[in-house]
Amino acid sequence: MYPSRFRYEAPRSLGEAIEALRDGGDYAKVLAGGQSLVPLMKLRFASPDLVVDINNVPGLDYHRADPDGTLRIGALCRHADLERSALLKDTQPTMAMAAPLIADPIVRTRGTLVGSLCHADPQGDWASVLTALGGSVVAQGPAGKRTIPLDGFVTGPFENLLAPDEIAVEALVPPARGKRAGGYLKLERRVGDFATVGVAVALEMSGDTVTRAGIGLTGVGGSTIAATEAAAALAGQPLAADVIERAADLAAAAARPRTDHRGSAEYKRHMVRTFVVRLLRRTDLTAERAA
Ligand SMILES: Cc1cc2nc3c(=O)[nH]c(=O)nc-3n(C[C@H](O)[C@H](O)[C@H](O)COP(=O)(O)OP(=O)(O)OC[C@H]3O[C@@H](n4cnc5c(N)ncnc54)[C@H](O)[C@@H]3O)c2cc1C
Repeated sequence: MYPSRFRYEAPRSLGEAIEALRDGGDYAKVLAGGQSLVPLMKLRFASPDLVVDINNVPGLDYHRADPDGTLRIGALCRHADLERSALLKDTQPTMAMAAPLIADPIVRTRGTLVGSLCHADPQGDWASVLTALGGSVVAQGPAGKRTIPLDGFVTGPFENLLAPDEIAVEALVPPARGKRAGGYLKLERRVGDFATVGVAVALEMSGDTVTRAGIGLTGVGGSTIAATEAAAALAGQPLAADVIERAADLAAAAARPRTDHRGSAEYKRHMVRTFVVRLLRRTDLTAERAA
């Protein structure tokens, strides 16, 4: 199917892009990688009047760490940039493990992490990873910039807090207060598919003790789930077997899966539990080796 008729603008600065959105009428959309928006337009699930393509806006394709350790990911940083990133490999184990699991190589070449957060698909992998890491989104509009924590950014399936004339210019991951550990596991029907279940675990460790924990769940609810009670059960604890089992039980309880063509609700809940245990056992080994 072809998309409905729409107006297309390709501004060359952020200011022009925001202006185009402001003047764009009732229904304008930002185009970043186009890997979610274009299929939706072709199916006519989305029929914007105006598409504002930000790919000609310079200076948005970065990911870098500030001197204090804050990680910044620009709006045109592609999944593939993150997959190949030495910075992530060295400093962000959860992100490094997730990057090659997003879609397939073609989608990863164009699609962006920030676009994925904005798209707010309950099966989007990056939202769980950045939720576990305590990340946020920086939005820029006519009134300037504001930083929105990710746990409040997504307001429902395919909905976010951005005003119609705001652009998400970057995503932020706060600095770690200890050694980072963790990972991302994803159950998919075949390579390149969306998650049946995904689990992100992000830990900060001091020796054998967890100083901060975050757990994000993909595909097991109406939006990304922050398993906060499970994460709280890890904080201040060593990764002992009983601590791991309790966190896994709490994460499984936080999941809100539905039975569908990908599997039963019971199976998905069981996989959440299994993935939390696997990731924490793996983290345990990582921490021991690093000690
Ligand atoms: C075959 C296929 C398989 C896929 N598999 C997976 C998968 O396994 N896991 C996964 O997580 N994703 C998957 N995706 C989605 C993919 O990761 C997309 O790249 C991502 O969801 C959106 O990023 P994008 O840059 O392509 O955004 P776009 O498609 O350009 O935009 C998506 C939405 O976000 C908005 N938006 C984008 N950027 C901004 C911005 N800077 N400011 C404000 N709004 C913005 C757009 O207006 C639109 O509403 C898949 C896609 C395809 C086509």
